[in-house]
Amino acid sequence: ESTAPAHFLRQIVQADLEAGKHSQIVTRFPPEPNGYLHIGHAKSICLNFGLAGEFGGVCNLRFDDTNPTKEEQEYIDAIKQDVEWLGFQWAGEVRHASDYFDQLHAWAIELIKAGKAYVCDLTPEQAREYRGSLTEPGKNSPFRDRSVEENLDLFARMTAGEFADGAKVLRAKIDMSAPNMNLRDPIIYRIRHAHHHQTGDKWCVYPSYDFTHGQSDAIEGITHSICTLEFEDHRPLYEWFLDNLPVPCKPRQYEFARLNLNYTVTSKRKLKQLVDEGHVDGWDDPRMSTLSAFRRRGYTPASIREFCERIGVTRSDGVVDMGMLEFCIRDDLDAHAPRAMCVLRPLKVVITNYPEGQVETLELPRHPKQDIGVRVLPFSREIYIDRDDFMIDPPKGYKRLEPGGEVRLRGSYVIRADEAITDAEGNIVELRCSYDPDTLGKNPEGRKVKGVIHWVPAAESIECEVRLYDRLFKTANPDKGEEGGSFLDNINPESLVVLKGCRAEPSLAEASLADRFQFEREGYFCLDSKDSSAELPVFNRTVTLRDSWGG
Ligand code: ATP
Ligand code: MG
Ligand code: MG
Repeated sequence: ESTAPAHFLRQIVQADLEAGKHSQIVTRFPPEPNGYLHIGHAKSICLNFGLAGEFGGVCNLRFDDTNPTKEEQEYIDAIKQDVEWLGFQWAGEVRHASDYFDQLHAWAIELIKAGKAYVCDLTPEQAREYRGSLTEPGKNSPFRDRSVEENLDLFARMTAGEFADGAKVLRAKIDMSAPNMNLRDPIIYRIRHAHHHQTGDKWCVYPSYDFTHGQSDAIEGITHSICTLEFEDHRPLYEWFLDNLPVPCKPRQYEFARLNLNYTVTSKRKLKQLVDEGHVDGWDDPRMSTLSAFRRRGYTPASIREFCERIGVTRSDGVVDMGMLEFCIRDDLDAHAPRAMCVLRPLKVVITNYPEGQVETLELPRHPKQDIGVRVLPFSREIYIDRDDFMIDPPKGYKRLEPGGEVRLRGSYVIRADEAITDAEGNIVELRCSYDPDTLGKNPEGRKVKGVIHWVPAAESIECEVRLYDRLFKTANPDKGEEGGSFLDNINPESLVVLKGCRAEPSLAEASLADRFQFEREGYFCLDSKDSSAELPVFNRTVTLRDSWGG
């Protein structure tokens, strides 16, 4: 029994179960292994696996692998990893549409025998012409009335490899004047002399998506076949195949609106282009919209599931604001991520009245609300603060450090800026400050110190690299380029800022890949799974502390 809000698919499943239509529901997630999964796929995964989980059913993972030239084992492995990372487990073994190629081929022959399929020799250009348009009915192919014997012979010879790619196709004989273009004698088999990642060189004819999908659903006993709205027009064809073949059961197809997210692209073709042309550092570049990128960037599976729950499931297309996804990860990390300090642009501070050689050990809570212990921070005469936390001539309302002004060091004392040391060019290279020994854990006497800044000890802090990520595109709808332009023109040139020579508090030397942190005042961070090393930790900024996009 589900407690989640009842979107229309939950209602359908619930009603079907109550009416006794099925004793158990079976759904499937059917990616084509031609790229990495992106955030749009997460919506489909959460929906299919989620419904199965909520209603005591099961969900299959099926690779929709009918297009061997665009598919690769690398993508299969990545997709499996991403589904598991999101927290879902498929029923039994992974399935492939190609597991059913023998059955599909036998069914194609049955259609031929029933006079419902024929081999057609029209070229693709001719076929397009014969197909008509939305306003004009199509014309019958001159090959439509071939005899069953001739069709059986030709299809056998297509299968045996006698013809070149594209020379012939097998088409279903439905209705060339159907208002729905998908019913105008659609292709069910095409010739493709290509090696397949699962079936090797066994086949040189491959079934079309439409001829594969519904029958695969039927073979697996899928009860609810959920897909995105662009397949709504394919549903009559999906049903035509099921009605005209001796399938073991009749799954039903339901459509929902795909996820569109602003400031990003979620088309595998475009994501692949970004990778292939080197605009990003691979499919898992933390700025990409792929699940492997979100993982590398520090997103939690829970935050993505929460996002998918919040956006809901409807039948109307819309664009979801990236801010919503960022809200979900921020919310999760705020509640769970330990706090730490890291100075991104270090400025050395010497506390002149602090005794030389003295070290105090300060303890700071790892989290302000969760009881997850403390971290230890040595405090002595030399520390680092961020360059941006000192200004010689600050604007009004500046709450950090200025000449003669005071500020509290997080978890430590109040210091006053006495002198800024500059180099020959006038750059500030060091600050001389004094501390008030009576301000550890209490307010100073007789004055208010408003600002609190983060810091690290100079000697004991560790060096690290920090990568600040921003949205990959600078416009909300990157697909809409300038006239004649491409989405590539909208890449945000500031989407990655690499800061070297950053200084992290010593406790961060123990950070592991599974950890996520709030660097106080800077955002949420995790170690980079590719480039971080024990010698030089590399931290990725997952998300800023606040929404800086005003969205
Ligand atoms: P792309 O256009 O990125 O290649 P696709 O739909 O061709 O996407 P598939 O691998 O065929 O990619 O998708 C597997 C499943 O995920 C399908 O059921 C598809 O409908 C669903 N899906 C893909 N993109 C989205 C999206 N943006 N929102 C919701 N579901 C999606
Ligand atoms: Mg697809
Ligand atoms: Mg696709």
